[in-house]
Amino acid sequence: MHTLRMIGVAAAMTVSALIVVPGIARSAPAPDQVPTEHGGNLTIQPIHHAALMLSWNGKNVLVDPAPLTPSGGAEFSELPRPDVILITHIHPDHFNVKVLQAVAGPRTEIITPRNVYEAMPADLKARTHVLRNGAQTVADGIPVRAVPMYNTTAARSHFHPKGLGNGYILTIGGERIYIAGDTEEAPELAHLRNIDVAFIPMNLPYTQTVQAAAQWVRDFRPRIVYPYHYRNGNGSPADVQQFKQLVGDASEVRLRDWY
Ligand code: ZN
Ligand code: ZN
Repeated sequence: MHTLRMIGVAAAMTVSALIVVPGIARSAPAPDQVPTEHGGNLTIQPIHHAALMLSWNGKNVLVDPAPLTPSGGAEFSELPRPDVILITHIHPDHFNVKVLQAVAGPRTEIITPRNVYEAMPADLKARTHVLRNGAQTVADGIPVRAVPMYNTTAARSHFHPKGLGNGYILTIGGERIYIAGDTEEAPELAHLRNIDVAFIPMNLPYTQTVQAAAQWVRDFRPRIVYPYHYRNGNGSPADVQQFKQLVGDASEVRLRDWY
């Protein structure tokens, strides 16, 4: 918890918290604190793109630790040791063997789809549990359910075919957290219920437009939503301000600097 506490202190002093990425002096956004039903705050630390860390009651869950740039990755070593790591799918902006080997401790539990597991070396496989869409497990006391993650638009379906990737719904401190991964609104996802915090992608051509993302959020109404994974293939950011405007009062939209 040491690093995270340091970040919290820095944020309180309104000094930018730094996760130093060699070669691109970039600071991670300050973490957010969300009061939980079971007491204590859930700490949400956006890292970049699709990478984030959730911490509650001494447990740290790291999601999709992959470098933002080819020379990146060292920033993950600045974080507290993860108890659980979730990988949504095999793309290099979500899954990176070197980073996993550097950040996973001997007791870290890793959860992945089947083809990610198959791409792992033996040392990581030994700590990894495969979940298919619809399956659930309890990882270090945290209930985790895998949900579908795929493109529904025909012209994009080759990016994320149905069945290969997982979104995840976790319950931490009584709060239900939905991490969408690279997906569009699919029938199985249109009406997820009682989501407290959601992470929703919006970039082209890989996932969905901001309009589609906002419509989806208006359908399932998470209490809090973070747009993430919003850098387009051409390098430009999606218009997250427009997303916020379109979501309106359906959800509290939290805009953070993920790039
Ligand atoms: Zn992807
Ligand atoms: Zn991606």
